[in-house]
Amino acid sequence: MSQIRAVKIEVINTGTELLLGNTLNTHGAWFGRELFKLGLRISRQTTVPDGDAIRDSLQETLSRADAVIVTGGLGPTSDDLTREITAEVLGLELITDEAALRSLGEFFALRGKPMVDANLKQALCPVGADILPNPNGTAPGIYVPPRLNGRSNCAVFLLPGPPRELYPMYHAEVVPRLRALAGVENLHEALVLKFTGIGESDFHQGIDARLAEVPDLEYGYCAHIGEVDLRLIGDAAALEAGRKIALERFGNYLISDDESSMEETVVRLLKERGMTFATAESCTGGLIASRITNVPGASEVFTHGFVTYANEAKTGLLGVSPSDIEIHGAVSEVVARAMAEGALQKSGTGIAVSVTGIAGPGGGSEEKPVGTAWIAVAMRGGPTEAFRVFHPRNRKDFKLAVSQAALEAVRRRLKEV
Ligand code: AMP
Ligand code: MG
Repeated sequence: MSQIRAVKIEVINTGTELLLGNTLNTHGAWFGRELFKLGLRISRQTTVPDGDAIRDSLQETLSRADAVIVTGGLGPTSDDLTREITAEVLGLELITDEAALRSLGEFFALRGKPMVDANLKQALCPVGADILPNPNGTAPGIYVPPRLNGRSNCAVFLLPGPPRELYPMYHAEVVPRLRALAGVENLHEALVLKFTGIGESDFHQGIDARLAEVPDLEYGYCAHIGEVDLRLIGDAAALEAGRKIALERFGNYLISDDESSMEETVVRLLKERGMTFATAESCTGGLIASRITNVPGASEVFTHGFVTYANEAKTGLLGVSPSDIEIHGAVSEVVARAMAEGALQKSGTGIAVSVTGIAGPGGGSEEKPVGTAWIAVAMRGGPTEAFRVFHPRNRKDFKLAVSQAALEAVRRRLKEV
């Protein structure tokens, strides 16, 4: 859970490349996540091209936000005007900051490169503002506290565009200042419940009306492939009421209530049960193993990931019978079961999952259309369970959906132990 405070923060991303679609604007999403961790939210985000366009956007923002974070345009070139336009809009004079100039000189000396005149403007700072050191690049950031801002009560942060410079500067320089600014008003909390196996429409029909009746509860949904997140924001009582309504109806589909992903949840359950895990993957090509091994500490529970794409791999590595493949086809319940049981035996793990399916676009039939997959879960000392899923999507989304269904099957099986 995190705390949400009623401070209006806006982000202005500058850069013509962002609007041309040459660079994906990842800053917006990144700030959203990072600020949320601090209990803050972005109330509006604007993307503007390089140059003059930032003026209007900044003027508007200053009149309504408590803090604005501007990214980009602090470079040495003629289209990098964030610093100059901000000073002009705030009515502050720009002067050379001696310490910033020294760091700039050191930055170039360390790399054995000459500093050109164009770089000198990167040491300019509005009178009275803070220079935010940039150990990873030439452009220092700038912080103009609200007391210097003659136009409104808005704090202004100017930060460099490149993520490797921006991220460390945000953590070192911006976070402490934001914390000090934010104070504690309208203390709210947020809770994200992750569900799988049900869709947004199920929530709409199932609990929407009841959630709407909870006083002071803000709620929303976010659908991903194989997952729907229910986001609740409110005071502790509102959250508890919202959680109760959601779990009463859909508790069986809950992946986590602490923002853990499906794979994190599976790894946690395996650890708690002291069990080891193996995968036998055909159509997902190792994606399940990849997701599991993205989780820190996966090595304690994950031992084998068989990627058996060809029939010979299924027979050779997992001991699937060639005649079963011949008779039932590689995408079949029989083969899925044999793959899972083979993986369990060959790896010596406590539980194994298999997937075999038709990603398309070719290879489908009337009986087994593109998008069909069989999934099986084999567990030591228990029956093997198999089921069919149907996700007619592009190959990448198909793989993700099938990996999600397979991990969900493992999660459910582990919950029974
Ligand atoms: P700057 O010179 O400070 O405007 O930053 C330029 C560099 O940062 C470019 O290489 C961009 O690709 C990157 N950059 C700037 N803004 C963003 C953004 N909103 N999202 C992702 N990358 C960005
Ligand atoms: Mg730029």
